[in-house]
Amino acid sequence: MQIAVVGAGAMGSLFGGNLSAVADVMLLDPWAEHVATMQRDGLRIVELDGSETIVPVTATTDPAAVPTVDLAIIFVKAHATRQASLWASRFLAPDGLALTLQNGVGNAETMAGVLGADRVVAGVTSHGATLLGPGHVRHAGKGPTHIATRPEIAAKLSDVAAVFEQAGFEVHLSDDLESLVWGKLIINVGINGLTGILRVPNGQLVEIPAANELMAQAVAEAEAVCRAKGVTLPYDDPLGRVQEVARATATNRASMLQDVLRGVPTEIGVINEAIVREGKQVGVVTPVNEFISTMIRAIEGSYAVRVS
Ligand code: NAD
Repeated sequence: MQIAVVGAGAMGSLFGGNLSAVADVMLLDPWAEHVATMQRDGLRIVELDGSETIVPVTATTDPAAVPTVDLAIIFVKAHATRQASLWASRFLAPDGLALTLQNGVGNAETMAGVLGADRVVAGVTSHGATLLGPGHVRHAGKGPTHIATRPEIAAKLSDVAAVFEQAGFEVHLSDDLESLVWGKLIINVGINGLTGILRVPNGQLVEIPAANELMAQAVAEAEAVCRAKGVTLPYDDPLGRVQEVARATATNRASMLQDVLRGVPTEIGVINEAIVREGKQVGVVTPVNEFISTMIRAIEGSYAVRVS
């Protein structure tokens, strides 16, 4: 199987590196130093047990250097999804599939606008990764990957799942895309925006009573939007699930906190802001998610004038 990973940052490197052992994989990323390091020295992966492996990979900064592929895995941050899709449109086979395992809602729709809905597949993953430097990634968390299937692409997706399994990724195919995406979204809604505002690791959100209260309100709003949309969540107690994840990842810095600390655009538009947008469509008010979203937008707007 010919695979391109579009966006070879933390997650793209982790998936691309492991898939390279079992398929023809090209990593595509505009970060020249990262690509040059991987090409020269291979990709260094710090595994969950602390051991380090070096994986030979093929990487490029040039979309024109990517051959025609059966599968394009989009692993950029949300603000770059359209650009990444435009790149993928140059090398994705007419009957190929573009897979997003990104966080949030709206990425698959953006990809469909460029690549056509029949070539787009979405899923969620419980794996986590952190970039340590050029060509150097840490596998930060492990868990299943769920991909939404549909009858017309079921056979192709089984082949994709088999390749992922060979590469060591546990994959489940599901026919309930909304449940998958919203199940993950609610975790991100409860954790990400607040860690970016408060600048605390995940576990503090359940330790600080007022933070826990904000988390509970944001999650309750998201749950109300889900109910109004008729989405069945993959768990019974959304707040309990979010708190469980925050405790299990207590020392982690959520990606939105990392983005805020680095002064780069966050994914707020596909997380808390998505709850506000979707809430308006189904007539559910979402003042806490609106507050969190506006705060993060204000923080993004103040990167250049911050006092330290
Ligand atoms: P990252 O910032 O580490 O990597 C994104 C990469 O995309 C960067 O290397 C950047 O140079 C590259 N890029 C930017 N514009 C591009 C373009 N037009 N074409 C190709 N590449 C481009 O981000 P990440 O942490 O790997 O996250 C990627 C996605 O996965 C996000 O949606 C995130 O929410 C999701 N996710 C992350 C984790 C995690 O643990 N890191 C876990 C689950 C889901």
